[in-house]
Amino acid sequence: MSLLIKRFYSTGIKNRAIANGICDAIGNTPLIRIGSLSEQTKCNIYAKAEFMNVGGSVKDRAALYIIRKAEEEGKLKPGGTIVEGTAGNTGIGMAHIANALGYKCVIYMPNTQSAEKVNLLRSLGAQVKLVPAVPFEDPQNYNHQAKREAESLPNAIWGNQFDNVHNRLAHFETTGPEIWQQTNGKVDGWTCSTGTGGTFAGVSMYLKQKNPKITCAVADPPGSVIYNYFKNPSLPLKREGSSITEGIGQGRITDNLQGAVSLVDDSLFIPDSETIQMLYRMLYQEGLFIGASSALNVVAAVKLAEKLGPGHNIVTVLADSATRYQTNLFSKNWLTNKGLLQYLPNEYQQQLNQ
Ligand code: PMP
Repeated sequence: MSLLIKRFYSTGIKNRAIANGICDAIGNTPLIRIGSLSEQTKCNIYAKAEFMNVGGSVKDRAALYIIRKAEEEGKLKPGGTIVEGTAGNTGIGMAHIANALGYKCVIYMPNTQSAEKVNLLRSLGAQVKLVPAVPFEDPQNYNHQAKREAESLPNAIWGNQFDNVHNRLAHFETTGPEIWQQTNGKVDGWTCSTGTGGTFAGVSMYLKQKNPKITCAVADPPGSVIYNYFKNPSLPLKREGSSITEGIGQGRITDNLQGAVSLVDDSLFIPDSETIQMLYRMLYQEGLFIGASSALNVVAAVKLAEKLGPGHNIVTVLADSATRYQTNLFSKNWLTNKGLLQYLPNEYQQQLNQ
């Protein structure tokens, strides 16, 4: 094989062992080098392809750990019900696992999330309850409603993904070690955004334990308090603006994120204009059909690379796929209403449906 071809892909059978059911097939995702951005920054930009998980997102890992730990602790028994408050992806992971292990699944979701996630959850057999998107402090917030429902049902658990630290343990025990192995320990920077904070915290805790010199930078969209919290910890938490991203952005320091508070070296604010540009760029230049939180993570990886300078290895996460957001992220009307169409090159705009 010529050197030229070898640069772009390797051929032959990839060695993947047989998985014992879907639970065993969660994790061990590829780490993809993003060529165009690596060349641009003179760094290696690596992205963990979490959309390749069984349920199609990074949240399969947390879902599996939350369920397995509840079984181990005797809280979840055969035929039981898993109740969770979720932006969708954790619920999708839980619904797959519930089907495989013989549980029922009840999902509380804010009514602002994509139709694709809601439809998928229903196809998977989960009972979906859409509730108004009110802040965490409000007793009608989807998480509190999920908790109350779990308490009212026999043999049911509430996943409590925001404050149940089995969520970040999944990333401490799987995502972090995979990144370490896949890079042969050559990581200089790690960045991603936070919803529950499980991914960011679990991976940061693992990587810092392996090498305290690794820069851990949290990334944040508009409407979230995390960026300001790390820039000015003494100021009160304040929400400003809103974002097209789903599944990320937070109004408080969750118990999961708490584990990484002392490990955060930098915090990066990413506006939606940069996120949408990157989302289309990754699609048309790299063949990566990723959701908005993933595109935001990639922007953050580029910013971190620019801060650290040439020659560094930066890792981030591709949390899910754009198949979950096709009706909005690829609609001309929707992008126009959000004031974002103008950021896309003309040739991309022409491809879009109304
Ligand atoms: N991206 C997407 C699309 C998500 O659904 C989530 C989880 N809500 C995240 C990122 C954030 O992951 P975590 O909860 O581990 O912070």
